[in-house]
Amino acid sequence: MITIGCHLSSSKGFLHMGKEAVSIGANTFQFFTRNPRGSKAKAIDEKDVELFLQYAEEQKIERILAHAPYTLNACSADPSTREFALMTMKDDLERMEYVPGNCYNFHPGSHVGQGIEKGIQEIADTLNRILKPEQRTTVLLETMSGKGSEVGSRFEELAQIIDQVELKEKLGVCLDTCHVYDAGYDIVNDLEGVLEQFHRIIGLERLRAIHVNDSKNPFASHKDRHEKIGEGSLGLEAIRRVINHPKLRQLPFYLETPNELEGYAAEIRMLREEV
Ligand code: FE
Ligand code: FE
Ligand code: ZN
Repeated sequence: MITIGCHLSSSKGFLHMGKEAVSIGANTFQFFTRNPRGSKAKAIDEKDVELFLQYAEEQKIERILAHAPYTLNACSADPSTREFALMTMKDDLERMEYVPGNCYNFHPGSHVGQGIEKGIQEIADTLNRILKPEQRTTVLLETMSGKGSEVGSRFEELAQIIDQVELKEKLGVCLDTCHVYDAGYDIVNDLEGVLEQFHRIIGLERLRAIHVNDSKNPFASHKDRHEKIGEGSLGLEAIRRVINHPKLRQLPFYLETPNELEGYAAEIRMLREEV
């Protein structure tokens, strides 16, 4: 059975997300650690976490994925914006220790005219300041579409960030199917070739999660607009090959398609039938 879920609202806590996941046929889920625009996080409710962990074990919910606010920018030209990203991620990682052994995904950032090299160095610097040897969370760099001055739309850029981080064992990559296709990696016509590149440049052992999204835009458009599965430029057939690929099928899959719960339930049902 594949591990598949979708993005859920975290506003009602962990147990609520767990129950919602089960209600739509999911056995994992993704959630924002706080308001996606980056406001202050609610205090962790230890009772809620305890009930969730018990429920997750009973229901075989595994490998939940936290997502950092997408407004953070660890390589902003503004030092106070960089500092805010650092403090937020540091706080998120401390909170993640309540649900140990899972992953925390973030968007590397946008270098906003500073240049890609400087951006890469600042992202690595941030990671070097927040990663701790004792943490039990793996931090994932998400593959980006390359809109604006986004860092991380080329596998080489992610490899360079990892290369400059000391505690590499705490790092992984989350591949977003919409983003990589928008970035110019042709997973529709040459999934095998793209995975070979990923392996050569980053190493498939770093790949820890897949965001399964179709794209509203054509190949290499550098746009980043997600579409429902089978309704975009990737198409169901390409996505079917992703979730069934022998090098990918053991990974957790998270839908971030434009859906409400019912739509997610239908997509999960559909993809489970394609396996
Ligand atoms: Fe993301
Ligand atoms: Fe994503
Ligand atoms: Zn996206």
